[in-house]
Amino acid sequence: MDRVDLTIIGGGPVGLFAAFYAGMRGMSVRIVDSLAELGGQLVALYPEKYVFDMPGFPKVLARDLANSLIEQGTQFGPEVVLSQTAERLDSDEEGYTIVTRSGLHLPTRTVVISAGAGAFSPTKLGVEREDDFVGQGVSYGVKAKADFAGKRCLIVGGGDSAFDWALNLHNVAESISIVHRRDQFRAHEETVKEVAGLGVPFRLWKVVKALHGEGRLTSVTLEDTRSKETEEIACEALVVNIGFKSSLGPIKEWGLELNRNQILVDHLGRTNRPGVFAVGDVCDFDGKLKLIATGVGEAATAVCVAKTMIDPGAKLFPGHSSDMEQFA
Ligand SMILES: Cc1cc2nc3c(=O)[nH]c(=O)nc-3n(C[C@H](O)[C@H](O)[C@H](O)COP(=O)(O)OP(=O)(O)OC[C@H]3O[C@@H](n4cnc5c(N)ncnc54)[C@H](O)[C@@H]3O)c2cc1C
Repeated sequence: MDRVDLTIIGGGPVGLFAAFYAGMRGMSVRIVDSLAELGGQLVALYPEKYVFDMPGFPKVLARDLANSLIEQGTQFGPEVVLSQTAERLDSDEEGYTIVTRSGLHLPTRTVVISAGAGAFSPTKLGVEREDDFVGQGVSYGVKAKADFAGKRCLIVGGGDSAFDWALNLHNVAESISIVHRRDQFRAHEETVKEVAGLGVPFRLWKVVKALHGEGRLTSVTLEDTRSKETEEIACEALVVNIGFKSSLGPIKEWGLELNRNQILVDHLGRTNRPGVFAVGDVCDFDGKLKLIATGVGEAATAVCVAKTMIDPGAKLFPGHSSDMEQFA
């Protein structure tokens, strides 16, 4: 593989904006992501939810926002390496070589780590045959609302995601119930009231004990956490929202200063390794907000600093995009 000016580890919203900015600054760019598609959390966790805090967009569907970011972030032709997890970051005489889990060697002059929460995976119910039913009735989020049309749906969890999916699916699924192990919810009170107002039944003090079906899910056994009584109820779609486990995984071994699961950076996005920056959800500094709007600003700053490292004659401030020839 050729050596590029900048390798971006993580093709979520912040990494995509970094790719745009670096392309705009004339840098050669490579994006590496362990997922099979670009978009990060927007695509993997909540594609059908609306986002309300993007500058200039009063309301935008996460999937549409991801598509716009992908279009913007790939317009200068970065090399995109998908389904590859960055496993090692080896120093070499011209910068770094990133080695992926499957053994690809990716040389680069500088690195922007925009790995979000790292490789994330949903918390599972921990019941027998759960893995067999994934994609056959059991899911850990909602990728396409249409998949739930006409189905009897149970949503497990008491947090915002569980209640948001109840709101999103109540017009689509044949029926919806919320299953929760207690009678207290972490979700916003207003959302809980809204869901209750729609007549969605709450099955409280219940946990999923067993899954049934030949190939596809057809019913679920719920157990009362207090009396231990069980009941089997028909269910073709079980949406499990009991959290995500995330880990920086291999990135924790790269000699970077960490604060738990986040990489410590200075006000320019610099880590303790020269030429290695961290931006977006993965980084930490005093006043850090885990938001897309702030993450993309961090990305622009880090890219501009990386540019001045590679080309000491370059200015930190690139000027205004509205004045740039490449967009004319
Ligand atoms: C349900 C929900 C709703 C949200 N709503 C909003 C909202 O309304 N407004 C808002 O601003 N924010 C919202 N957020 C938060 C927002 O999604 C994140 O702040 C944003 O996605 C962070 O972007 P990122 O690019 O830093 O990381 P991510 O989107 O997490 O992307 C990181 C990427 O890095 C990849 N990666 C990780 N480790 C490796 C590795 N070792 N090698 C290769 N690739 C790797 C991952 O596969 C992933 O694609 C929401 C989050 C959730 C879960």
